[in-house]
Amino acid sequence: MSQALTEDRARCRPRICHESPGVDLERATAAAAALLDALGLDLHDENIAETPRRMAAAYVEMLSGPPFDFTTFPNTEGYDELVLVQDIPLRSVCEHHMLPFVGVAHIGYLPADRILGLSKFARVVEFFSRRAQTQERLTKQVAEHLEQHLSPRGVGVVVEAEHTCMSLRGVRASGARTVTSALFGALREDPSTRAEFLSLTRNGRQASS
Ligand code: ZN
Repeated sequence: MSQALTEDRARCRPRICHESPGVDLERATAAAAALLDALGLDLHDENIAETPRRMAAAYVEMLSGPPFDFTTFPNTEGYDELVLVQDIPLRSVCEHHMLPFVGVAHIGYLPADRILGLSKFARVVEFFSRRAQTQERLTKQVAEHLEQHLSPRGVGVVVEAEHTCMSLRGVRASGARTVTSALFGALREDPSTRAEFLSLTRNGRQASS
């Protein structure tokens, strides 16, 4: 591959990877065993003897998103209306309780020079979800990533999720949904575009419930 082609590929398909240091599965397993032991579980019981290892593996899976190529294409048709991807499934872990929160994300953007491959929206959501998170930060990170790497005229992200730290413990408000949003560019500044985006995400919610 020529240097120019390689450079072009790197510009159009940057590989997005986690910066965090690798995990120590052995140490996580030992720590899970210590936690369960301190909580009064009998790890000599055959049924739960392997639970610390499974617990550690489950957290490793929930906390590490796979790298992906952020593939963009030239906007040759000059498409300038809103692109909206609704109901992207989302599962993450709340960093305050290390319990899962589950929901959907809606992403809209107004293309400029480049458009994003549609499957990449789900990839971006997965990438920022698979780590210890707050819903507010997750929403902002997805929007900022698209803003920085796609340079659209505007971008909006709405996340709706149910937090098990709220439904299974504490106030036990099962069914309560938290909604967060992050808007940039024309989706933030232009009142009619903003209203169009937010009403479309609301319609999606009514249709899915
Ligand atoms: Zn929590």
